[in-house]
This record gives sequence, C-alpha cells and structure tokens, in this order.
Amino acid sequence: MVGMRKGVLGIWTAMVALAILPALLRRVGAFPERSVPVLLYHHLAPESEGKYLDNGAIVPVEEFRQQMEWLREHGYRTITVSELDRFLSRRWGFPPKGVVITFDDGYESVATYAVPILENLGFRASVFVIGSQVGRNTSELSHLSWEEMKTLSGKGVLEFQNHTFAAHYLIDGQHPALTEWPENLIVKDLKDLDNAFAEHGLARPVAVAYPYGAYNDVVVGAVKEAGLKMGFTVERGRVSTNSDRFRLPRMIVFPGTSIEKFAALVRE
Ligand SMILES: [Zn+2]
Repeated sequence: MVGMRKGVLGIWTAMVALAILPALLRRVGAFPERSVPVLLYHHLAPESEGKYLDNGAIVPVEEFRQQMEWLREHGYRTITVSELDRFLSRRWGFPPKGVVITFDDGYESVATYAVPILENLGFRASVFVIGSQVGRNTSELSHLSWEEMKTLSGKGVLEFQNHTFAAHYLIDGQHPALTEWPENLIVKDLKDLDNAFAEHGLARPVAVAYPYGAYNDVVVGAVKEAGLKMGFTVERGRVSTNSDRFRLPRMIVFPGTSIEKFAALVRE
C-alpha cells in the first residue's frame, strides 16, 4: 500500500517536472524556442533627409540604430534566413532570443547605413534582391551592385536571397505580376536570379520574398519547382516550427515605431 502511494507520488513528481522543465530551461537559455520573429525593413535614410515622413518603406537610420541596440542590450542574437532554413529542417526549435533581420529590394542604403550598425553589434541580416534592379541607380534610389554584394557577403554581415528577377512590378498599376504569371514563367524568373547569383560568385538563394507579399498556389508551386526552400510573405506573426515553409510571416517595421512598440513587436 505504502509502495503504491510512493509510486503514485513519483509519477506525479515526474509529470510536474516534465511540465515545467521546458519553460525553466527556456528561461535560462538552454532549451530551444518554438518561434522566432522575422523583421522586415526596406530603405533607410537619415532623419535630416525627412524622407520617411510620407513613406512607410523608409525607416530613419536613427530609429534603426536604436532598435538594433535594444536587441543587443536585451540579449538577442541574429539568425540569417539560410540558418532559419536549417533550424526549420531540424524541427527542434530555434536558439533562445533569436531574431531574423531582413531587407527587401536591395537598396544601397543597406550597405551605407545598416552594415556599419550591424557590424558594430555583431549582427547579421539577409537581403532579398530584385535581379533586374541590381546595380541600377536612379536619382532617387540606388541599388547594390553585384560587386558590392560579393564583398558584403564575404564580410559575413549580409547574405542575399531571391526577390524575383523581373517580377517586382504591378500589372495595370494594381496586380502584382507574380500572381498573374503562369507557373513556367515564375519558375524561369526565379531560376534566372539563382543563376545570376552563381555567375557572380554568391551563395545560391534558399528563399524568396514575394514582391508586395503577394502569392497564390501557382506561385508556391513554382517556388518549390525552382528548388527554393522557403517563401516569405508580409503577414504578421512569428515563424514557428509548425509554420508552412512557403507562407512564412514577417513583421514590417514601419517608420515612427517607438522602442516600446518595437519591443512588443519582437516579443509578440
Ligand atoms: Zn519588394
């Protein structure tokens, strides 16, 4: 009778320990996280240029710096998109306090403003580039060149991923091209950019960011067919071990995001 009671107690203790152990280990950083935030930026400009006021895709450099410093002070470490791919494959989870920093479109401002800040903090980021825009400079915006991309990836601060070669535009000013195109054209476009990466000595992309965040089943089928392993949307939420690899959420960081709001976004 006594032995039986002891046995029951033992089982209870074991069950309670099993229930609280992951939470405890996660707290001390010894147990993987189930999810990770993926942040999305586009263009950075100094506050003095005042450009960010009416454009949601331009974040002041000062805000970006504060946000990165906040991450560092709070013990966060960056995970690149290709590392994210490996963590998702293992299905075990993510390192504690991981955060993925991404930039879309491949603007020169990433090299000018983000790289020194990231380097200084020991952070890394992933940039989704538009093939047809590489090295293109207009009066308003400059894009990174292949040479710069090669140098920056060599330094280990940035890695580069696919944002389509020539599908980053709106048909009739309103329909994202990718969701209008037939599958074979999408596959060809994605492979064109993958090949350009190889030609310029850059690592083969593992992920695509859908232009304008727009995708459908045809697009997803084409991404798989092209051999890419992940697709990023701009839907809000965290990437978890259960996330659909071809519909991964990302959180846009808009200009004017206070550090409190930023902290809430990262912890969401
Ligand atoms: Zn874009």
